[in-house]
Amino acid sequence: MIDCIFCKITNGEIPNYTVYEDEKVLAFLDIHPHAKGHTVVIPKVHAENYFDLNEDLLGHLSIGIKRTMEKIDKVLSPDGYNVGWNQGLVAGQVVPHLHIHIMPRYEGDGGGSMHSIINSAGEKTVEELGKLFAASSL
Ligand code: AMP
Ligand code: ZN
Repeated sequence: MIDCIFCKITNGEIPNYTVYEDEKVLAFLDIHPHAKGHTVVIPKVHAENYFDLNEDLLGHLSIGIKRTMEKIDKVLSPDGYNVGWNQGLVAGQVVPHLHIHIMPRYEGDGGGSMHSIINSAGEKTVEELGKLFAASSL
């Protein structure tokens, strides 16, 4: 059995404040919220990151995110959302079980946008990068 805090939440060893749940997805309130109603959405099976989860479950996760947002909308009526995940240590991932953060946003909350996470685009121009991608198959 893998020693993972979010697996312990899905199997009931650690309690949570559930926002949304279905057969394959669980969404619960973040214990250190950065916004009112800050929620994390996880697949119930252990996968460290987006690459590790099969596409069928990624589809379920996406629907779970939408339903979680609908529930937050109903309960808290935020004005908007930032939704995303930290993948990898360098990006700030602390818990190695894929989790999508939903940050409800409210007028005047003082927060930024995705663009405020990082502003270090590197040396290559967008055109140079475009050529690299064009030259690469999937
Ligand atoms: P990350 O930096 O993306 O790995 O975020 C991990 C998130 O999990 C943080 O926002 C933590 O506050 C949250 N977290 C850790 N343990 C728990 C827990 N037992 N219940 C709810 N949220 C948790
Ligand atoms: Zn896990």
